[in-house]
Amino acid sequence: MTQQNNVLRIVEVFRSIQGESTFAGLPFAFVRLAGCDVGCDWCDTAYARDPSGGKERTVPQLLEEVDALGMTRVCITGGEPLMQAAMPHLAYCFTQKNYTVLVETSGAYDISLLPWPIIRIMDIKCPSSGASEKMDWYNLGHLRKQDELKIIVGDRADYEWARELIEKHRLNEKCTVLMGAAAGKLHPGELADWLLFDDLDVRMHIQMHKILWPDRDRNA
Ligand code: SF4
Repeated sequence: MTQQNNVLRIVEVFRSIQGESTFAGLPFAFVRLAGCDVGCDWCDTAYARDPSGGKERTVPQLLEEVDALGMTRVCITGGEPLMQAAMPHLAYCFTQKNYTVLVETSGAYDISLLPWPIIRIMDIKCPSSGASEKMDWYNLGHLRKQDELKIIVGDRADYEWARELIEKHRLNEKCTVLMGAAAGKLHPGELADWLLFDDLDVRMHIQMHKILWPDRDRNA
């Protein structure tokens, strides 16, 4: 997606409880960007995938809109936020205003565009998501301690694939690794049993917002 460096297509700006990552449970402002070409089979934000969806806003407009929500933390999500050229600049501007800034990304785009102190919450797409081949594996070399990896597992084959990946790349030594069960595909308790049996040192991940608001479409 080519774009002027100061303009982004935005689906929604809102305040909510963070439902994912080690920040789950904390109040956040959310900025959801339009557009995603990753194509996960179980996408839960299909309404944000159209790159021409939402409305255009400039970076100053977004800073003002988020400031008005009165929060100290902001999460930039999507869609795939790294598809929009102006997003790293927006994230940087939030850090300059002393926000704690998270960017949720699929892992398919270069996270090195997001400098410290931005916290990257990066997915690793398992085979049953249908999007594994979209991963940019160079991203594993860009991870910092403050970043978090999120692995959503749909079945036993996914779990074994993810376990091997964690061990092979020593992902636990790079940053926090979260693992969760894909809604409707795998019961979280079953995944928890596998983690305990293997003594795999990852953080069990439950999508809190889906428990709080099971009927709501949006992902936070
Ligand atoms: S990366 Fe996110 S928005 Fe894109 S298809 Fe996958 S779940 Fe949906």
